[in-house]
Amino acid sequence: MSVEMNEIADKILSKNIDKQEALRNFQKLSEEEKDLLTSQLKVKLSGDDALKNKLSAKAAGSTLKAIDQRNLTEEHQNYIEQLNQEYEKFVPESKKNIAKHQHYFVDQRRPFHLIKDLKKLHFQITYQKAEGAYVYDIDGNKYVDISGDMGVNLFGHKPEFIINAVKDSLDQGIPLAGYSEKIFETSKLFSEITGHERVLFTQSGTEAVMFAVRIARAATNKKKIVIFEGSYHGLSDAVTAMSDQHGRSLAMGPGMLQEFAEQIIVLEYGNMEHLDIIEAHADEIACVLVEPVQSRHPYIQPVEFLKEVRKLTLEKNMALIFDEMITGFRISHRGAQGYFNIKADIATYGKIPGGGLPTGVIAGSPKYMDLVDGGTWNLDDDTMPKSKRTGMAGTHSQNPLKIASVYATLSEIKKRCKGDLQSDNCQYFQKELNAKTKYLVENLNAFFLAKNLPITIDDFGSLFRFRFIDSYWGITEALFFILLRMKGIETNIQGNCFLTTAHTDDDIEFVIKGVKESLETLIAQNFFCEVEQEEQNNTQSFATEHHLAPSKNVATLDNLRQNNFGQSASVGGQKESGQLESSQVSSGQVNNEQIEKLMNLIKADLQNFQEEQGN
Ligand code: PLP
Repeated sequence: MSVEMNEIADKILSKNIDKQEALRNFQKLSEEEKDLLTSQLKVKLSGDDALKNKLSAKAAGSTLKAIDQRNLTEEHQNYIEQLNQEYEKFVPESKKNIAKHQHYFVDQRRPFHLIKDLKKLHFQITYQKAEGAYVYDIDGNKYVDISGDMGVNLFGHKPEFIINAVKDSLDQGIPLAGYSEKIFETSKLFSEITGHERVLFTQSGTEAVMFAVRIARAATNKKKIVIFEGSYHGLSDAVTAMSDQHGRSLAMGPGMLQEFAEQIIVLEYGNMEHLDIIEAHADEIACVLVEPVQSRHPYIQPVEFLKEVRKLTLEKNMALIFDEMITGFRISHRGAQGYFNIKADIATYGKIPGGGLPTGVIAGSPKYMDLVDGGTWNLDDDTMPKSKRTGMAGTHSQNPLKIASVYATLSEIKKRCKGDLQSDNCQYFQKELNAKTKYLVENLNAFFLAKNLPITIDDFGSLFRFRFIDSYWGITEALFFILLRMKGIETNIQGNCFLTTAHTDDDIEFVIKGVKESLETLIAQNFFCEVEQEEQNNTQSFATEHHLAPSKNVATLDNLRQNNFGQSASVGGQKESGQLESSQVSSGQVNNEQIEKLMNLIKADLQNFQEEQGN
């Protein structure tokens, strides 16, 4: 029924409104479905993302809030205990594995999001195999996998073209030191698809970003780098810092040096006023590193800001580095650069092109990439490297298995783009995938709105992310992901979710149903409670800020928690004290009344039409 309603909503909103049919369909619906349709119309009408977020949120009048660990009652505890028992029966072997092997297996993921009251539910499941849109665990459960393997998975698990390519490569042995024909072909193909002239393979995304920064420093002879709050660029100290409320950069956790943090300027993403800071320090800044659409905050898409950064970096000899680890190949074949029509000097990739094998890639213009090999020079004349060089190497940078996988993945992308790689925004297959994701997101956002739930899904292309607006990783959110898993939907209990080309319409409906049922259970078990009016007003203003201009601290905490760095950072150098005073981004008032007016117009329009038909 919801598909039908989505279609009705589309029809009502289309220019060629088929009023008779829309009305007929509208009248067939139950009162509850009419409400849902109205909510869907609101979401669709909202057009711009900021408004959409606002509409999907508590600010639109949600009267419910998710309870957190401090508000647990005896009934909640009883429900959790019952769930513990059910979960133990659901994944017994996975649970045993954790207890059995933890003595020697150092588990990087285990401490993430640990909530004491849910300790018994807090363990990773052990997979047995993965195929297409599904993963299977050792307890015999099958899941629709929307984890996307942290953004790696674009074509589903075990696509034949990758498996065959890797098997073929394996048959040739795994020589690491020499080159192969494949590495040359793969670099050429990478350059052709991304539009970047020169290409370098690294072992991971983290390494790609770390080396890209080194290249920028070597090319400009400058030290500092600019990053933005809310972004993630891997775990290298070179790109990890947070800023305090005075704008001072701080190391993010134990083992991370304040000396490194002091080379990093952390600014607010999308804040035009912070461009002045970049300009004022241009003499010291080697590069501006951006995650163009942050996977943790996909609703922030500051294109104009990025264009200004592009201009400024060109004028002042700073490298602009786009970290396309997640956006690359997913939003379009030229990633966010193609989508926003902004070309970076250097772009870093990983995840998707690796096709499941570990890789990172740095691609860019000769001005920068020549710093690695000295540029092009000939063997048979007296030419020599033109450029100075910086050190860069890695035992597995050109591992033939991963090169085979990259080549197969890129070839598939080229094939699916029908060979049309010249246009900047080729979205042949991405278009369909993104539309499917949009359908899922709009359907669920309308459901949240209809149910007054303080949840929204943010999305960018085939990336989407559930956001509990009034709490970050509270007990209700944690339970939601456990319940999803028990419904056969695997998110790997982390924020980012992805659809792949392997997901069928049925899989998507399955996910929608599972999300709704899980939330219905949590509503029934009183994990959402009514917000007192006063509190609601406060939360509304919080939600508004959080949606339209994530506050400095929220973004920073988000980063900290995502990476589980634990204790507060050491505060060291005061060099830039006061320099980066936070100035709130003006959020731009969103007019909820406008939406109501539009809704009333549509309703009136339908009513007039009905009357006309009656006459
Ligand atoms: N940059 C971005 C935007 C990422 O999302 C990630 C990983 O999630 C990285 C860099 C680091 O990549 P890797 O995990 O391959 O080291």
